[in-house]
Amino acid sequence: MSGNLSTKNRMKELAELDKKHYLHPTTPVKAHFEQGPPIIVSEGKGIYIKDVNGEEYIDGMSMLWNVNLGHGQKELAQAAQEQMSKLAYSSSFFGNSHERAIELAEKLATLTPGDLNVVFYTSGGSESNDSAFKLARYYWKVKGEPNRTKIIGLERAYHGTTLGATSATGMTEFQNFVNAKAPDFFHAKAHQTNCELGDKSDPNYEGCIRDIVEKEGPETIAAVVLEPVQGAGGVFFPPEGYLQAVRKLCDEFGILMITDEVITGFGRTGKMFGVNNWDVVPDLMTVAKGITSGYSQLGAVIMKEKIRDELVKSDDVLFHGFTYSGHPTACAVALKNLEIIERDNIVANAKNMEAVLKEGLKYLEEKHKTVTKTRALGLLAAFELYEDPESGKRFDPSFLAAHKLVDECFDRKLILRTAEWDGDNIIAIAPALIVNKQEVENIISIIDDSLTAFEKKLG
Ligand code: PMP
Repeated sequence: MSGNLSTKNRMKELAELDKKHYLHPTTPVKAHFEQGPPIIVSEGKGIYIKDVNGEEYIDGMSMLWNVNLGHGQKELAQAAQEQMSKLAYSSSFFGNSHERAIELAEKLATLTPGDLNVVFYTSGGSESNDSAFKLARYYWKVKGEPNRTKIIGLERAYHGTTLGATSATGMTEFQNFVNAKAPDFFHAKAHQTNCELGDKSDPNYEGCIRDIVEKEGPETIAAVVLEPVQGAGGVFFPPEGYLQAVRKLCDEFGILMITDEVITGFGRTGKMFGVNNWDVVPDLMTVAKGITSGYSQLGAVIMKEKIRDELVKSDDVLFHGFTYSGHPTACAVALKNLEIIERDNIVANAKNMEAVLKEGLKYLEEKHKTVTKTRALGLLAAFELYEDPESGKRFDPSFLAAHKLVDECFDRKLILRTAEWDGDNIIAIAPALIVNKQEVENIISIIDDSLTAFEKKLG
């Protein structure tokens, strides 16, 4: 009893300290300052986490779609410990190198499709995207086409929050927040509109990638960037043929194609990389998150040899890089993570669990009148809430339907996440890739109960 009391006090004390001293990313500042953290996590094992009171939750999102091998993976901790004890840090500036970064670069070259064989390291997804944009521009500069500076992204894309990544992100909230859009970034209709395949029927149509290329002039376009599956924007899968169409378009105009695999990389979609689902090879691929399963901070740009072969023609210094580019401990963790992914057939498990997840989502759609547009590829899944799916009537955005449902799930100890852009009420599901059938069924069962409670309150 007294132990229980003291952990409750500890929780309260931590919440107060959090409010006082800790400004959180991507968080409503005022609401947080008033209410404090919804959860203070203390430990984790597999798909489960515990808060400081010892309450257990299912982490239905692998945190930020990144803890792909699940929590409490001791081999990853051990790999970090061993590398830290031997050589915790070494610089990669001025050409300096070390064993783990070289080994990991070679491993990434073997895993990625085509001749994506050259690696530039960063500490995360945003840095990877900013690096890819700069490397693309630098490629064109060295190649004698310095006017190719423009980057075309997609509406509803998420690429991170550094300046370039924010500018490429297609949710204007991230840019308008502090006028954070750099010049030379453009946004085309998102891939779920089929735009590149010729469907221009959307009344809000602003332009496909092709229209922007033609309007701005292909000789000014450095690169097109897109997520193979849009994640934070709402888990949107491209229509069949879309990625291939973008690849063809880029080839037609000599534009570089960058795919952001920060979420989709390393098995999330049931293939090693998202683009493997459509047999497309980009010119540059950005990765982070799943490269270490979140156990260490690492990202990378993996580029075709033709990019490097161009860059080596210049005597210039590559004036770009991060103190933690190729961090030895992060690289050691990534190597172990990739070893486990292959050894334990993690990608195949993600594919197998897709079927279980899809069946569960279908059941929810049939049973609950507000559920629609259920979808899954590997362990990247979502469903949407409509007031009346049949007539297409949406909930009033001020009702915050998706939020309300996610709160019901949270009350039942399941953590999910919403995407509520443009009046959508999307709920994302992305458990760790080690999840088993019983656990997927438990997740569905909690969502089922939460939907029953949510719909009951609707009346
Ligand atoms: N790209 C995508 C597709 C992402 O989902 C994210 C993060 N959610 C990022 C880039 C940014 O990565 P980071 O937060 O590591 O900078």
